[in-house]
Amino acid sequence: MSVAAGPDNLGCVNYRSDAVIVGGGIAGICAALELLEGGASVLLLDRDEEDNFGGLAKESFGGIFVVGSPEQQRAGFRDTPDAAFADWCSFGELPQSEHWPRAWASAYVHRSLGDIHRWLRDRGIGFFPIPHWVERGEKTIGNTAPRFHLVWGTGRVLATVLAGRLREHRGAARLTSKFGHRVDALLVRNGAAAGCRGTIEASGAEFEADAASVVVAAGGINGSGSLVRKHWHPDWASPPETILNGSHRYADGTLHEAVRAAGGRITHLDKMWNYAAGVHHYRPRKPDHGLSLVPPRSALWVNWRGERVRPPLVSGFDTRALVAAVCRQERQYSWQVLNRKIALKELAVSGAEFNPSIREKRFLAFLRDTLIGNRWLVDELTANCKDFVVAATLAELVAKMNRLQGDEAVRLDVLERDLRDFDDKVARRAASEDEQVARIVELRKYRSDKVRTCNLQPILDPKAGPLIAIREFIISRKSLGGMQTDLGSRVLDESGKPIPGLYAAGEAAGFGGGGMHGLRALEGTFLGGCILTGRVAGRAIRGESNP
Ligand SMILES: Cc1cc2nc3c(=O)[nH]c(=O)nc-3n(C[C@H](O)[C@H](O)[C@H](O)COP(=O)(O)OP(=O)(O)OC[C@H]3O[C@@H](n4cnc5c(N)ncnc54)[C@H](O)[C@@H]3O)c2cc1C
Repeated sequence: MSVAAGPDNLGCVNYRSDAVIVGGGIAGICAALELLEGGASVLLLDRDEEDNFGGLAKESFGGIFVVGSPEQQRAGFRDTPDAAFADWCSFGELPQSEHWPRAWASAYVHRSLGDIHRWLRDRGIGFFPIPHWVERGEKTIGNTAPRFHLVWGTGRVLATVLAGRLREHRGAARLTSKFGHRVDALLVRNGAAAGCRGTIEASGAEFEADAASVVVAAGGINGSGSLVRKHWHPDWASPPETILNGSHRYADGTLHEAVRAAGGRITHLDKMWNYAAGVHHYRPRKPDHGLSLVPPRSALWVNWRGERVRPPLVSGFDTRALVAAVCRQERQYSWQVLNRKIALKELAVSGAEFNPSIREKRFLAFLRDTLIGNRWLVDELTANCKDFVVAATLAELVAKMNRLQGDEAVRLDVLERDLRDFDDKVARRAASEDEQVARIVELRKYRSDKVRTCNLQPILDPKAGPLIAIREFIISRKSLGGMQTDLGSRVLDESGKPIPGLYAAGEAAGFGGGGMHGLRALEGTFLGGCILTGRVAGRAIRGESNP
């Protein structure tokens, strides 16, 4: 059957296909690839414009969590699914009672090598030779091995290659993609999903899409400031006044409500993966558009008064704890104070946009940025981003911080005291006296962190200036909760039974099971989770017994 379309006499556009996929992000693309493989006709609907096909994955950094890869082995790590599962459940504090989240976590660690890493490689997607070691854990154990495998070319390549595979598929004639189509509700007949309906944004015309199977792959809720606030986790005090948007502009929960109305169970929406170091995008493409910095480890992390946050904050161990620490402050934003030398080596922005050398696979440029510092990035951010201030002296820096803040809250004497104290411990390499110094020493034992972390660089060192202060806000990113699904990506109802014909994948499904991570997520499991759940949804619909 091919996709059929046409207006009825009430002006409503009608589509008919075997399966309809709501959302053209990476999860929707992977589901579509599997469905075409199985011979189905597919209608893919997306609210966004065609240029953004690929969704957040296209903007992403492209790091994917993989267990037991050749890259890990080359780096000297023999990783196993059992070890990864133990780390995952510890980091996410994922209890035995969480049946479907744990089932998906287990599926992920066992299948990441074959169904994600090898599957992508077979489709021409390569990986950076050394995996990154992120989320090592702080109070709870995190990654005990490096598992973040960066796609060579970032998420841009990941999304565009897979989108290209769809276009070139031998069954491509069975795929119809419609952009600017906002899905508002699901069609349910006799207790089974039967399609969806919505609005064509350009004309305001209504449409209905009939299909025996519906895959909801419309992303999470973290693009909606009001939903982020509504579901704010109590561990993070109250939601901050400013929360930047690092998610999709259409990640607004419309499909969560539609699935709920169809009887589906939505769980764990209070679990989110937000970041502590967001700055305003200076070329915003959506309201409150933020950039998520990879926070420099050698910077001093201080509060709105210029006092060092204690215990000291260092990125790479527990992102959730960083958010909690900032939200505990009276004013829920923070500053990182550093110098140009540190910025050149350590400052980075997550995502494809600000990593041109990796995105465009320019190895020599990447090597240059790593070895002698990323001048382009530092100059770009300090010149354009309003949250960066630069000064030759500390007094001048504090004056600029206060001007930006709009009051005299940052105290020069307090900041100077804390900087001198930290610099003294850095200079003496006093790991036993300062947790941040200890962590820098620990990080530098791993090759890929060593090249991206200064070797104990004092901040007030006159040879390393000028000084830089970055004002950082909480930035919303990923929904860890969502539609509860079984291991066939089938959406479950409140009694735990699958709703016939209804599937969910990617961030919409909490990356599997309605929240496969628990409280915390090991980085790279988002893209990986979208690929796996999307593929499983497509394979389940085409009747695979073990999708
Ligand atoms: C800058 C950045 C860096 C990242 N880096 C990484 C990384 O290195 N590793 C990692 O694992 N993850 C990373 N992520 C997260 C990851 O990219 C996302 O979690 C993932 O891409 C989500 O994919 P998805 O298909 O589930 O949803 P999305 O990409 O959000 O796609 C959903 C699609 O549904 C459409 N849609 C929404 N509502 C409707 C509606 N009502 N009707 C029709 N269509 C609708 C949207 O337009 C969108 O195209 C990053 C994210 C960002 C923003």
